[in-house]
This record gives sequence, structure tokens and C-alpha cells, in this order.
Amino acid sequence: MKKKLISIIIPLLNEEKNIPLVYDALREVWVKLPTYEYEFIFVNDGSTDHSALAIAALAAKDKAVKCIEFSRNFGKEMATTAGIEAATGDAVMMLDADLQHPPLRIPDFVSRWERGAEVVVGMRTHNASDRMVTRVGSKIFHAISGLISETSINKGETDFRLIDRVVVNAFKQLPERERMTRSLINWLGFKKEFVEFEAPARLHGDAKYSTSKLIHLALYSFVSNSLLPLRLAGWLGLCITFLSGLLGIAVFLERYIFNDAFSWHVSGSAQLAIINVFLIGIVLMALGIIALYIGKIHGEVAGRPLYVVRKRMNF
Ligand code: UDP
Ligand code: MG
Repeated sequence: MKKKLISIIIPLLNEEKNIPLVYDALREVWVKLPTYEYEFIFVNDGSTDHSALAIAALAAKDKAVKCIEFSRNFGKEMATTAGIEAATGDAVMMLDADLQHPPLRIPDFVSRWERGAEVVVGMRTHNASDRMVTRVGSKIFHAISGLISETSINKGETDFRLIDRVVVNAFKQLPERERMTRSLINWLGFKKEFVEFEAPARLHGDAKYSTSKLIHLALYSFVSNSLLPLRLAGWLGLCITFLSGLLGIAVFLERYIFNDAFSWHVSGSAQLAIINVFLIGIVLMALGIIALYIGKIHGEVAGRPLYVVRKRMNF
């Protein structure tokens, strides 16, 4: 029987010291799981150090080592996408080059896959090296994301994942330009299982994601997964218009119809303020309505497939 092929994708930016280490760790896994074939796809995302040489050295002695080298830095999400598109395996496993996604846990992913899971997600229980800002930021991100996003990313879900060939094929049909691999895979659906792991501290080099890059990624993720922020303006406007409208009517009746019978003594400037707030409410409501149209455009432009098929029978 032909052995199943597992593609391992490693996006990397300036990881010259980590590359040989991650490769050695992957070889160890290989020894533990000899019933599979492997290909190791290193995606060099515009490294400026000697990462390219380190990969070439591995490729020279091992035909299973493949490399895609970008012309410049395009970001980890693009590197991962390039790897997934190039992978030929029955399953595709993606992991960071910095050993924070421990390769020794790969057999756990594979066994869940063999039991029928189509997406196996690494859940990080503890991260030794997280900076304070990143930790707090990640908490806030997941809280907001859980509140507003239709396809949320749960806390702890990482890019350390295995996806089955059906998921790979579906993933390749997603045309979005700005992308976050994790949320796209979540959007696709499929049978999902989890593997918990502890992320050790980075061995060499620094984290490549600056705080500003992370904020950008988080904002993008909100905007692409949810229209709620846009709609909120509309709802706020509706409330403001309704309440100030009621107040306005009451003040008008009291002042001009009943000739200040209840002695509210509403001043002229207070009346102006009420009218003003009422108009602001209308403007916000208009924004909310525009949001509905933008939402439609957003959905059309994203151009995601209408549905995702797991399998067809007798066609
Ligand atoms: N990475 C990449 N391109 C980038 C930034 C990062 O390919 O523009 C790679 C990096 O080399 C590593 C992985 O993505 O293999 C995760 O990066 P990092 O360790 O900096 O992120 P963190 O661990 O903080 O999530
Ligand atoms: Mg890392």
C-alpha cells in the first residue's frame, strides 16, 4: 500500500539559527511515525539573514526538503498560503520555525486526523515568552472577536494546525487578498479537533510580529469577520433619535400647547440642544443604513465560495 504523504509547511523570516533545529526535531518525528512519507516546505518570507543558505544546506542532503523563496517580505499569512498551495500531501501540517510549535506533538495531530478529524487545531495553554502587551492584547482581541465575529477565533487557537486534503482544496478556492489563515480555515468548517500544547520560549532571534503589526492584524480580522461595528452606529442613532424625539415632543407640548403648565422652564438653548441631538441621531441612523450597503459590497468583493463541499457521491 502506498504510504500517505504529510506536507509540513514552515513559514519563516530570519530564522537561520532555528532552521536546522526545527529540521532535526521534524526528523525525530519522522522516526516515530515511519508509516508516512513527508515533505518539508520551507517558505522563506524575504529573510535578510542566512536563512536561505541554511535551507539550501538541508535541501542538498534531503530530497524531502523543499523551499519557496519570496522576493521580499509578504507576511506570514501569505507565506502560509504559498505553502498550502504548493503542498501535495494527504494532510498539511503548518508550524512556526521558532520551535514555539513543538514538532514532537505532531503525532497527536496525526492520530486525530487518522480518527476522522479534518482540521486539527493546536490550542496554546501557556506561552513562556509572551510579552505583557501581547498577552493583554490577545485577551482583548479574543473578547471582542467572540462578541462581534460570525466566525470567531477562540482563545488559544493557533496556526499550529493540521488540515486534511479536502480542506486544502477548499482553502485554495478562497480568493481573499488580505487574509488570516486561522479565520479562513475556521470559516470553512469541517470536523474539528484540538490538541493542547505549551509554547516554550523562542530559542533564537526575536518575535517578528511587532505590536503595530499585531494591532493591524486584529483590526483587519474584526472588519473582515463582522459588520457589527458598522451596524452599531445605526442602532445608536435609532436610540438617540427615538429618545430625543420623545423629549422634544414633551417639551414642545409643555412649552407651547400647555403654556409651561408644569413649570419646566425649558430654555431656548435647551430646546436647541434637543433639536441638535435629534439631528445627530438621524445622521448616525443614515450611517447605519450605509453600513448595510457596504456590508453587501464587502460580502460580494470578498468573493468567498457560496458553500463548501466535503464530498459528493455518484456524480
Ligand atoms: N514569520 C514570517 N513572516 C513574517 C513574520 C513572521 O514568515 O513576516 C514567521 C516567523 O519566522 C515564525 C512564524 O512566522 O516562523 C511566527 O512568527 P513569530 O515567532 O514572530 O510570531 P509569534 O510567535 O509571536 O506569534
Ligand atoms: Mg514565535
